[in-house]
Amino acid sequence: MARITDSIKISFGDMSTCHVKNSLIGRSQQELSALPQFEEFRGVNNIVVLNQVHSPRGYRIDTPSQADVLPFTYDGDYIFTTQKRVALVIETADCAPVIFIDRVKACIAIAHAGWRGTLGNILGEVLSEFKQQKSDLQNIEVIIGPTARGCCYEVGSDFKKMVRDKGAFQERSGKIYFDIADYIQHSLVNAGIAPKNFFLENAVCTICSEWYCSYRRQRQQNLRQFTIVALK
Ligand SMILES: [Zn+2]
Repeated sequence: MARITDSIKISFGDMSTCHVKNSLIGRSQQELSALPQFEEFRGVNNIVVLNQVHSPRGYRIDTPSQADVLPFTYDGDYIFTTQKRVALVIETADCAPVIFIDRVKACIAIAHAGWRGTLGNILGEVLSEFKQQKSDLQNIEVIIGPTARGCCYEVGSDFKKMVRDKGAFQERSGKIYFDIADYIQHSLVNAGIAPKNFFLENAVCTICSEWYCSYRRQRQQNLRQFTIVALK
């Protein structure tokens, strides 16, 4: 795992701890923290889960009371916080979980970024939260988790026309493939994140690695994996 210090805890879930989409609705904080996925986060005060809608909007947590929120209370696709001991959760299956860390200003964010959210500028919205915190973009580290990659993620020519970043596409044997991790990385570099600050060790392709839930590969099962991050 990439440069995780004692002050930040990160967990990338996989098939062994996946769950059915929306199964966290109505769970109390106590019930959430009892789930095996949160075993490493038992010391946190709150676990925050949004109702993800492939939007560029998110939820900002600056006070303990803002963290005290039941799962799915708010719609949104990123969570930003300056608060310690608050676990931020994103659920994915092919879209990318993206973690943002500013160790200088001690703030973190996590985003659910597929092509739709990225095209809608969710990453720019996340960076706006850091700018509000007076973060220097050069200090922000980005960790991209398991997502659909260019080895497998076949798309149509209309899709390629719509996305400006042609560097995120690959062509093989007359077929077009799209790499979500590349698209995210290119978008963030264009926005001012330093290329050396990306960590893609965890950006395994969800479609061809059976360790991960994949919407493309197992659509009917509706499974999602958790990515969790907290400031300790
Ligand atoms: Zn693949």
